[in-house]
Amino acid sequence: MQRQQTIIEESLKAIMEDEEFLPDLKSQTREQAYKSLVALLSTPNHVHKSFLRVALENGTIVRVPAFRVQHSDTVGPYKGGIRFHESVNEEEVANLAKLMTLKNALHELPFGGGKGGVVINPKEYSVKELNLICKKYVQYFNDILGPDKDIPAPDVGTGEREMDWMMGEFKNIHPGEPYRNSFTGKSIVNGGSLGRRESTGKGVYFTFRYMMHDFVKENKKWLGETENRFAHTALDHSDQKLKIAIQGFGNLGSVAALEAYQCDDLQNKVVAVSDAGVMLYNEDGLDIPGLVQYTKDNDGDLPASEEELRHHDINADVKERDDLLTLDVDVLILAALEDQIHNENMEDIQAKLIVEGANGPITEEADKYLADKGVLIVPDILANAGGVIVSYYEWVQGREAQFLTEDEVFKRLFDKMKGTMDTILPQFFSDPFPLRQNCYIHSVMKLSTIMYRQGKLY
Ligand code: GLU
Repeated sequence: MQRQQTIIEESLKAIMEDEEFLPDLKSQTREQAYKSLVALLSTPNHVHKSFLRVALENGTIVRVPAFRVQHSDTVGPYKGGIRFHESVNEEEVANLAKLMTLKNALHELPFGGGKGGVVINPKEYSVKELNLICKKYVQYFNDILGPDKDIPAPDVGTGEREMDWMMGEFKNIHPGEPYRNSFTGKSIVNGGSLGRRESTGKGVYFTFRYMMHDFVKENKKWLGETENRFAHTALDHSDQKLKIAIQGFGNLGSVAALEAYQCDDLQNKVVAVSDAGVMLYNEDGLDIPGLVQYTKDNDGDLPASEEELRHHDINADVKERDDLLTLDVDVLILAALEDQIHNENMEDIQAKLIVEGANGPITEEADKYLADKGVLIVPDILANAGGVIVSYYEWVQGREAQFLTEDEVFKRLFDKMKGTMDTILPQFFSDPFPLRQNCYIHSVMKLSTIMYRQGKLY
């Protein structure tokens, strides 16, 4: 995630050289403002760390490392998920918090950026222990959290159950104070929003569909006339039946797969999906509804043997999980964890379109290598913002105590993402920069303008 830093600095340089940007900044103060911005954006406002003291059911007491990093509150309260994963560490959480600042600014949400993490593998803990971990998290960090301070949400390894527990504990600690909007991604009965669970996966597929089906087709003529290599990658794939492979079949990957399966606008087929155990492949397209049903009945896991597949009447070959990334497909949707495409597999990637559902799934080196080859990468901050966008709608609904229907939520979600893409895509297809860089330029420009107006650039 060092790449973030490089791109932030490059983006700032580009906008600072543009005289139309903050024209009242004269050359000397511009240099100073640039340094000030690099410092502000590259470091978090606060890093909170604690060791949660948890009594396990077998009587042992463990101390579990936990973090909440508050990167920036320039645009509004800190906002971002809490991840439960054994590889969580301070640097990772800080980078993810920074990504949230950029993501929220890109989509014009009234939030800053934050992220939390607990160093555990949730599968190794009982429900009772997880409940205790959630309560302890809120007890340790309760001073810094709150509906107008810092609003966590689900991330890898957490979901509505954990958000419900956490909100419940926040309410206990702050009796008589507003608590409903202290967490988003809650269950519906507990004040959550319809559509929040599907929002990230739906948004990921929507960005891809909107770019390829609507934008590229409507702008075929001028895209064909530009020198831009990414425009040619998009055009080359716009009228074809596309083969899609999806890494990860959890809440994100399975919803994105179902959207792709059901989408009639684009002639595509999902030929491969994978989870932590296996990859399933069918050249003619997988039975995604069948697989979604199977995972619902089997604790989230995909069928892992030919026998199991036959038994459920699903036609697919079982293959090595990691081979999914290097399959001969047109589109890769990365919906698992970070750093999945790296310097050891980047040369074998065959897909020309990659959509980042997970945060940071491509390393800096691989990102550069693929972009140089003309691979069109739809970056995380653009593609996977559906979750935080619907978190925002949940937060607004909680304040107004008025609730939207599921159709209204999805309509607002798609309109929002379309609005962002209509701002970004024309510039992207005219500039030589990769899409990630364009998104960063847009976010950094917005953040810099607000920081300047708030008198923070000195
Ligand atoms: N964890 C999600 C993300 O990375 C959602 C954050 C939120 O809803 O606040 O965008």
